[in-house]
Amino acid sequence: MFNQYTISQFRSLKTPFYYYNADLLNKTLAAIRSSAEFYNYKVHYAVKANANEKILRTISNNGFGADCVSGNEIEKAIQCGFDPKNIVFAGVGKGDDELQFAIENNIFSINCESIQELEVIDYFAGMLNKKASVALRVNPNIDAHTHHNITTGLTINKFGISENELYTILSNRELYKNLIINGLHFHIGSQITDNTVFVNLCNKINQIQKYIYEKNIYLPHLNVGGGLGINYESPINQIPDFGAYFSVFHNNLKLYKIQQVHFEPGRSVVGQSGSIITKVLYVKENSGRKTIICDAGFTELLRPALYQSSHKIINITSETGSSVYDVAGPICETSDYFAKDIIMPETNRGDLIAILSAGAYGEAMASQYNLRSLANNYFSNELEAYRLKSNLIPASVEPEFLQK
Ligand SMILES: *Cc1c(COP(=O)(O)O)cnc(C)c1O
Repeated sequence: MFNQYTISQFRSLKTPFYYYNADLLNKTLAAIRSSAEFYNYKVHYAVKANANEKILRTISNNGFGADCVSGNEIEKAIQCGFDPKNIVFAGVGKGDDELQFAIENNIFSINCESIQELEVIDYFAGMLNKKASVALRVNPNIDAHTHHNITTGLTINKFGISENELYTILSNRELYKNLIINGLHFHIGSQITDNTVFVNLCNKINQIQKYIYEKNIYLPHLNVGGGLGINYESPINQIPDFGAYFSVFHNNLKLYKIQQVHFEPGRSVVGQSGSIITKVLYVKENSGRKTIICDAGFTELLRPALYQSSHKIINITSETGSSVYDVAGPICETSDYFAKDIIMPETNRGDLIAILSAGAYGEAMASQYNLRSLANNYFSNELEAYRLKSNLIPASVEPEFLQK
């Protein structure tokens, strides 16, 4: 996964840092594109998963749209080459300035989450002399069977409009003079690994759509959100099975007249392409437990502390021996752990550790808590080009750690 030259280059870089595999990202994007084109589905990348500029440019160059959850994300997406006509805007608490920015930029759709928000969008659209395109985000009360902190489609969650409100809005839709209500939107959660959850979503959507079409209302767009999970346990160069994912919707969704189906994947697009490279500062032994203290913490990868998620962790500079370790960061918080009780090769101060599958919700959730510096990011293709250009590491020379 990391060749000797790459690891040797890592040794010269300040840790911790994010390392992105450009080749894998491109292959993943190609896989999504070909599967989506097959079914004529539109894909909007969920920017919040990773808003790194080079990643955004790579994704926009591949013809994807963007799913944004703030005005700043919309602005950044446009700067990075996404066409506003392919941008959707979700979020349970969109600010006045964010809504005005979205309306002024004529984005494809504002995904509205309450009746009150609908009134506000209508007001601002009128003020700006525009017609705003709006989709209604429905809370379908579907259990995503994922961690409770990343479940969004249950009625106890704050997201979306209830079914009853939906029907009220649609029957009163003439009231909203400055809106074009042209679609339904759903997003039930993240890291969904069981496709029957998506089948349940399709069945629920069919039920809602049937009711709407019996009332002779035609909504040309259907956005089914994101949420496709990735394999954190054995993540080596894995491209999620987008063919299988899209076919679930193809086989289970009933479409009316000519409806365009939209998707908003985030994690599954970028998750496997990123790692965090961190250096071992200390190995402590406390009442029989060995704890690796590395120089990355939850300021670089919040997921384990935020929702007890696990990432595969490998020592990339040592292969010998083995022991049971906890892996912790340097932050002054008890939750600052990446793993507990994992088996790793004998690990020592100065070793480099890779935390895999950190491309999604890693760099995007970085913070400066403890006044830490934000970590750098490096791309595989750039490091390789630099190596070849500077001839820093001739191919005949083995990196130091491999010589011992
Ligand atoms: C976060 C989010 C997504 C992306 O979810 P993933 O699990 O990363 O695919 C899509 N749509 C909306 C509305 C979101 O909030």
